[in-house]
Amino acid sequence: MTLTEEQAKTIKKQLLTQIEKMPKDQVGDLKEQIEEATPEELEEFIKQQQSAGQSQQKCIFCEIIAGRIESVKIYEDMDILVLMEIMPASKGHILILPKHHYQYIQEIPEPLMNKLIYFVKTVSPILIKLLDAKSLSIYIPQGQLAGQRIQHFVINIIPRYEADNLSFDWEHKKADDKELKEIAEKIKKASHGEVIKGIKEEQEKYEKKKKEHIESEADQISRHIKKRKP
Ligand SMILES: [Zn+2]
Repeated sequence: MTLTEEQAKTIKKQLLTQIEKMPKDQVGDLKEQIEEATPEELEEFIKQQQSAGQSQQKCIFCEIIAGRIESVKIYEDMDILVLMEIMPASKGHILILPKHHYQYIQEIPEPLMNKLIYFVKTVSPILIKLLDAKSLSIYIPQGQLAGQRIQHFVINIIPRYEADNLSFDWEHKKADDKELKEIAEKIKKASHGEVIKGIKEEQEKYEKKKKEHIESEADQISRHIKKRKP
């Protein structure tokens, strides 16, 4: 995809404003280069800037995945990595993460998300039993304010013990009824179309799978009966 003349013009303008804020000795002939760049050159330039920016702020999880930082691994395949948290909230705190760098849940493709959740689902009862934990907290921080210190999607599984002094609780104050309804309406209006479409698709997939499963079971039973017939 190449930039249109119009897009190129806007981007040039943005870049030139950015340059004005840079120290003079770093600017050099950057200004002329940008002004004279064709849309193709401009696109290439942006790509270079982005990858330079990414390599400057290294993601610790990506470094671990690449094997440049040591870690205690539990499971690894092409798509996901499961490891011990080196600064655990409690004994047995594990991290489940996609190998590709995503920050937010909405960026993660469905099959990958399913795989991550599948791991959570299967490992959770094992953790409880093995560590003699009483409960588990499954924690997915999304954004800095929520405690996402590393901008790489991660599912924390935190075994919970008696008097572990961890708190995921909040003050249980009764909400304002009017406000509750207003917010619910807003969310419904904004999300329903998209959510319903997605859920319908998922439901169809699920029904299909269920049907296949029932058919194969019925098949097995009928074969079994036939065998027993004299
Ligand atoms: Zn990363």
